[in-house]
Amino acid sequence: MHTRDYQALDRAHYLHPFTDFKALGEEGSRIIEHAEGVYIHDSEGNRILDGMAGLWCVNLGYGREELVAAATEQMRQLPYYNSFFKTAHPPAVKLAETLCRLAPAHVNHVFFTGSGSEANDTVLRMVRRYWALKGQPDKQWVIGRKNAYHGSTVAGVSLGGMAPMHAQGGPLVPKIAHVRQPYWFGEGRSGEGRSGEGRTAGQDPEAFGRECAAALEAKIQELGEENVAAFIAEPVQGAGGAIIPPESYWPAVKAVLAKYDILLVVDEVICGFGRLGEWFGSVHYGLEPDLMPIAKGLSSGYLPIGGVLVGDRVAETLIEEGGEFFHGFTYSGHPVCAAVAQRNLELLEAEGLVDRVRDEIGPYLASRWKALEAHPLVGEARSLGLIGALELVDPATGERFAESRGVGTLCRDLCFAGGLVMRSVGDTMIISPPLVISRDEIDELIDKARAALDATL
Ligand code: PLP
Repeated sequence: MHTRDYQALDRAHYLHPFTDFKALGEEGSRIIEHAEGVYIHDSEGNRILDGMAGLWCVNLGYGREELVAAATEQMRQLPYYNSFFKTAHPPAVKLAETLCRLAPAHVNHVFFTGSGSEANDTVLRMVRRYWALKGQPDKQWVIGRKNAYHGSTVAGVSLGGMAPMHAQGGPLVPKIAHVRQPYWFGEGRSGEGRSGEGRTAGQDPEAFGRECAAALEAKIQELGEENVAAFIAEPVQGAGGAIIPPESYWPAVKAVLAKYDILLVVDEVICGFGRLGEWFGSVHYGLEPDLMPIAKGLSSGYLPIGGVLVGDRVAETLIEEGGEFFHGFTYSGHPVCAAVAQRNLELLEAEGLVDRVRDEIGPYLASRWKALEAHPLVGEARSLGLIGALELVDPATGERFAESRGVGTLCRDLCFAGGLVMRSVGDTMIISPPLVISRDEIDELIDKARAALDATL
C-alpha cells in the first residue's frame, strides 16, 4: 500500500487521540513505518530524529533486539495469565522485585496496571481507601495542580488540571481541587495567570516557587486538613510544558506537607526511569512519596504497562487492615509486558544509562540547549536531565505572544518538515529524547531546532 492509501483508510476509520479529526482530514497523517536508535522513518522515506522518544517513553531507543527476544520468549512460555485469585507468574514477580530494589527504601510493593491513566485511577481509589481504613473517611479531597496531566480516564482527567479536558465529557470526579503550577516563565516572571491573587508582576523565581507552595498550604487550610487525603504532582510537569520548578518549590512543598497528615503522590510516569538523571524524579528532588504512579519508560514503550509503587505506610495498612481491595485489571502485570519491562530495566542498569543522563549527556544537552536563548524567538531555554523546553516570545518585545498566534504549532510543523520531532504546548517547544541519544545526535537536534526557529521567524 502507498502513503495515500494509508491516509485514506486512516481518515475513513481511525479516531486518533488528541486530534482534530476534521483538520487531520485535510492534511492526512504522516505514516511512520519503522524506527531504530533515536530515528523514526516515515512512508515517504524520511528519517526523522525523535526528540520526544515517542510520547516521552522510548527511553532505551528503538530497535532493541533484546526486548524483542524477551517478548518472543515470554509469548512462547506463557502469553497470558493473571495474578488474581491466588496465582502469580515469574515475569510479574521478578519485575515487582526489581522495581522495589530500584525505588526509594521505603517503597516495597507495587500494584500493576496497563497504563499511566490506570495507575492514577488506582491511586485515587487507594488513597481514599487508605484513609477509610484509618478511620478517617472524610479525608477524600485530593489536591492536584492546574495544567497537570495525569491521564485520560475520568479519574486521570479529574486529577489533572487541564482546562480543555475538564470542559469535555464531564462531570468530573468530585472532591478534587487544583492549585497553581510552579511555572515561573509563564506566570511568575510576567505576572500572568495571577488575576485576583493580588500579586505584582515580575517576581523572582525562588520567591515564586515559595508562593506556589504557600498556595498549596492555603488550599489545605481552606478544605480542612481533616478532609484532605493527598497531594499529587509530577516532579517536572511534562505535558503541561516541561515545567521545571524553581529550586525553592519542592523543599517548600515538603515543609508544607510535613505540617499536615496528607499523603504525597508523585506521578513518575514521565520522570521515572532516568529522564531526570535518577531512577525516579522523586530521588532528584529528595521526595519520599507514599505512592508513585509509573508507566512509559518502565517498558521503554515497547509494550503497555504501568503500575503504582506503594510506600510502606500505605501498603501495610492495605495489607494488614484492608482485606480484599476490589480493584484490578485483566492486564495487571501482563506476563509479556512484564518480561519486556524487566529486560528494559536490566538494560538501563547494565548500560549505566540513568547515570549517563545525570553525569554526561544531560549536562551536555543543557549547555547546547541554553545557547538557544540567543535566538530572538526564544525567551527561555530550560532543561533538566533529558527533558527541555523553549519558550517562544515575540522578538519585537521579548514577551510571550499576547494570545497564541499558532507560532508553536508552526515551529513544531517546521521541525517535523526539517527532520526533528519536537512537541509544542501552546508556544512552548518541548524535547524529551531517548536516553541513548549521542552527543552528535544532540548536535543534530540543536541544529534542526535552530533551523526551525529561523524558519518560524
Ligand atoms: N501521568 C503523566 C505524568 C503522564 O505524562 C501521562 C501520559 O502522558 C499519564 C499519567 C497517563 O499515562 P497513559 O497515557 O499511559 O495512560
